Amino acid sequence: MTCPHRVWRDVHGPLDERVDEDNPFLRLLWERGVQHEADVVAGFGFEMVDCSLGTEEERIAATHAAIDARAEYIYQGILAHGDLFGIPDILHFDGVEYIPIEIKSGSADESGDDGEGVKPRKDYAVQLALYCELLERRGVHSSYRAAVIDTTGERVDYDLTAPQGTRTPETFLELYHRIRAEVVALLANEMQNSPAMSSKCKDCGWYASCSKWVKETDDLTQLFYVGRSIRDTMQKDLGASSVEAILNQDRGLLLEKKKADKTFLRGIGGSTLEKIFRRGELMRSEGEPLMLAHYEFPEVTTEIFFDIESDPTRDLVYLHGFWVRSPDSERFVEFTARAATPEAERDAWAGAIHFLRSFDPDDTAVYYYSAYERTSYRRLRRKFPDVIVEDELEAMFAHRNFIDLYLDIILPSTEWPLGAYSVKAIAPHLGFKWRDETPSGALSIQWFNEFLTTGDEAKLRRILEYNEDDCKATVVVKDYLKQRMDEMKNGGN
Ligand code: SF4
Repeated sequence: MTCPHRVWRDVHGPLDERVDEDNPFLRLLWERGVQHEADVVAGFGFEMVDCSLGTEEERIAATHAAIDARAEYIYQGILAHGDLFGIPDILHFDGVEYIPIEIKSGSADESGDDGEGVKPRKDYAVQLALYCELLERRGVHSSYRAAVIDTTGERVDYDLTAPQGTRTPETFLELYHRIRAEVVALLANEMQNSPAMSSKCKDCGWYASCSKWVKETDDLTQLFYVGRSIRDTMQKDLGASSVEAILNQDRGLLLEKKKADKTFLRGIGGSTLEKIFRRGELMRSEGEPLMLAHYEFPEVTTEIFFDIESDPTRDLVYLHGFWVRSPDSERFVEFTARAATPEAERDAWAGAIHFLRSFDPDDTAVYYYSAYERTSYRRLRRKFPDVIVEDELEAMFAHRNFIDLYLDIILPSTEWPLGAYSVKAIAPHLGFKWRDETPSGALSIQWFNEFLTTGDEAKLRRILEYNEDDCKATVVVKDYLKQRMDEMKNGGN
């Protein structure tokens, strides 16, 4: 689901180039998932036929026997038929059919970016559809109903025959069949696909190998926001997908052809095409970042650069960091939860809100990078409504001096000779260096968990240092943008 190329590469790729380094953060996620499952099962309250022990054959036989006896709950049964195999966490017989239930340490829903609100997660839905098909193959009726017990411990029911959304009429079941057919063809090497760089690649054992391929082939997915689907459409319609080959095209002619033929470069609008050319040319020339439109920064006495640290796997914001710059001083202020409890999370957040309220909003600019801070603060408000009322929080973020550097300026008004426009990519390009050798939000979560389990203050200091540097990186980006915007205003670019 994350990368269709990985399915092929895991079997048919250059296996000696795969790096299976121990990733402590992934290990933490794994351990947390196992612990969450154990907690849910321990508190389940229903008798279950336990099929988790024994050899694979013994577990399959025990699962089949339990299904034939219509056991109400079956734990860790193995379903196997032909080329399909699956281990649903729980099978629940509701008197009519077996409902597969997965225990997940993530959220059962995901927010659509199409404004349709929350809906089932596609990756969970596809996994559950596999179990339904296995039940059917076993001769047990399935109407493709399933469920997830998520990180909150609540059971969320999935109807896999429902459309994925009003704008995506394909049902989850159809999605599953489409993906399964693709997987079967990839595993049999009847179908091949190419790597495509994305933010997901960093945690993949093939990262070095795929990056090398992308560079050697000058693949379009090196460019910011150019992913698999754009690259594959270019390849299909133009017979090429290298940056060089695309830059050699006449963009005027491409736009004309697009107007005349709606099927040509389908899904790639004129403005996207313009961006691809602009980004390709900039990356090729390794030139100065482009300022495309002027942005007027507020003239204020105090500037605050703001960044949070959170652990999404347990829905916890544990650190609010602020770099405060005023005419006579600069300082770092932090509000940290020193335990993974709702009380500690609430107190840290209440401290941060109190701190922000202490400044005159008309004479203070607050800078942050991307929508994460705002969405996290909205989630915190729903969790702890006594801290701040919704209107006040919304007014805070809507104030003209509350500025999202990424969404308000970087994305709409600039271009960079980089494959990613995150603060971790842009600040080093401008010469900033984190004190930590390998800074990442994932490592911060790992250190926080180590601090919680060992009480080691050095871990906490490392998190605070990392967060402080994140805030300072935002300062560097803001100052650069301001300087370039001033130059633009004064006639240069
Ligand atoms: S590095 Fe990226 S493109 Fe390559 S297999 Fe992994 S996720 Fe896919």
